[in-house]
Amino acid sequence: MITSTMQDDFPLTVTAILEHGTRVFGDSQCVTWTGGAEPRRANYSTIGRNARRLASVLAELGVGPGDRVGTFCWNSQEHLEAYYAVPCMGAVLHTLNIRLPAGQLAHIINHGEDKVVLVDGTLLPLLGAVASQLRTVEAFVVVGAGDASVLGNVAVHRYDELLARGNKFFDWPDLDERAPAAMCYTSGTTGDPKGVVYSHRSTFLHALGTLSNNCTGARESDRMLTIVPMFHVNAWGIPYGAFLSGASLHMPGPHMTPAALVDFIEAERSTLASAVPTIWAGILQVGEQREIDLSSIRMATSGGAAIPRVVMEAFQRRHGVTIVQGWGMTETSPVGGLAHPPAGVDPASEEGLDWRMKSGRLLAGVQMRIVDDSGAELPWDGVAVGEIEVRGPWITSAYHRDPAPEKFDHGWLRTGDIGCIDPHGYFLITDRAKDVIKSGGEWISSVELENLLAGAPHVQEVAVIGIPDEKWTERPLACVVPRPGEAIDPAELASFLAGKVASWQVPENWTLVDEVPKTTVGKFDKKVLRARYQAGDLEVLRLGEP
Ligand code: ADP
Repeated sequence: MITSTMQDDFPLTVTAILEHGTRVFGDSQCVTWTGGAEPRRANYSTIGRNARRLASVLAELGVGPGDRVGTFCWNSQEHLEAYYAVPCMGAVLHTLNIRLPAGQLAHIINHGEDKVVLVDGTLLPLLGAVASQLRTVEAFVVVGAGDASVLGNVAVHRYDELLARGNKFFDWPDLDERAPAAMCYTSGTTGDPKGVVYSHRSTFLHALGTLSNNCTGARESDRMLTIVPMFHVNAWGIPYGAFLSGASLHMPGPHMTPAALVDFIEAERSTLASAVPTIWAGILQVGEQREIDLSSIRMATSGGAAIPRVVMEAFQRRHGVTIVQGWGMTETSPVGGLAHPPAGVDPASEEGLDWRMKSGRLLAGVQMRIVDDSGAELPWDGVAVGEIEVRGPWITSAYHRDPAPEKFDHGWLRTGDIGCIDPHGYFLITDRAKDVIKSGGEWISSVELENLLAGAPHVQEVAVIGIPDEKWTERPLACVVPRPGEAIDPAELASFLAGKVASWQVPENWTLVDEVPKTTVGKFDKKVLRARYQAGDLEVLRLGEP
């Protein structure tokens, strides 16, 4: 009989992340962009002291262990302080998506039972619109200026004033690593938002995972631009990874237009940046209007939705920026893997791009499998396509107050994503189960059609949805946004696809739209397109059947 001699009960907590960042990397900086004037700068020691101050006053406001503290904020220094103060005091950080429709916002604050909500002054009107529906909130804390009368009769405090009287020596309690640290609701692209609760342990391990060289490989010399919002899936773990690695943080605040982000990158020389594909496409457009300098970026990551090949190609060719694609979801903390090309392949080469077009390569810690409709496991041969299931220390095993048994399969999370895995753990998401087009007993990948069409002449953007068809059950409808001032001929686009996909996969239904509707986190909102089609709002041009 032998037992481990390690300190296996040493808790992996957000407090340990904070202590490391403030002690070892106390001079690393959080830079908040102000959109013109000098940015605001605070080093990690200051963030640590402010986090203690904030925790001490939240405790005075009655926040105790396990209580939820909502944040309704842009990416900023104060949001970062809350990212540490709330979990480290034993409470639960509930990041609120500032772009949710009012009904859903009220629902998730009530469902999460938030006790206190931190709100950016600039966002007061949005929160004010639902304030009267909130059943559990006892106090608001306003960051910055703004008319707080919209919040009604609930107690309102000002962040700066609270911090000024806060206790910078506040003692962090000892915490169980399995205690909840934060929660986030899914953005509801395919259904109602569901709450995912991250533990201290899952947060710590996920942050470590994101720092490996197979992910961002972030280190002290990096400056990480957090374009992904802190209100959605922990900003992909970047705020925590920064304190573990010493990388500085670039926070855009409300200045989230592609043009403002480019200004920030140019001025502060960001080295790492992560965003959804629509933001990257927007940054490319800025580069079409003026000369831009992205030479400081050593690696960019894209995730949240499939990125068109033309976008990756253009970044490499025009700006020398290598975008690496990653995959994840709210339920997976979110990072499940990044598609770095294998050893010996130059990432910037055409072959490197082929690899980067995969959705990811499994990150150590996450296990993945694909299953068919009967639940049988399919081989990792890069060909067999089925539903992707995952498990691991930063994958959720349940939803907050919502059992949803259909989402789990003997300890594996059913992702709702359809795809294949190759023998070396590279996986490709070919579609979401709800978006895949079922035509004549075969599946058509809407993502593949979108990707190819994004590279066609005169096309700005394109989303493909399935529409009912008497003969084939479903057929693809391509919803195309022409580039400004340019004309689109669907017949030409159909010929463009010929030879690139099987002939029966080429859409015969086409419609021109002004823009593809987007979800609150910037993904294509196909629900809206389907509803518009059903309501007869889309003018469909039908070519002959392929
Ligand atoms: P929601 O499910 O509401 O959109 P999430 O942000 O959690 O909220 O989205 C996770 C989903 O995003 C995944 O299940 C997958 O469908 C999609 N996704 C994430 N990364 C990629 C990627 N690289 N390629 C294709 N789809 C992706």
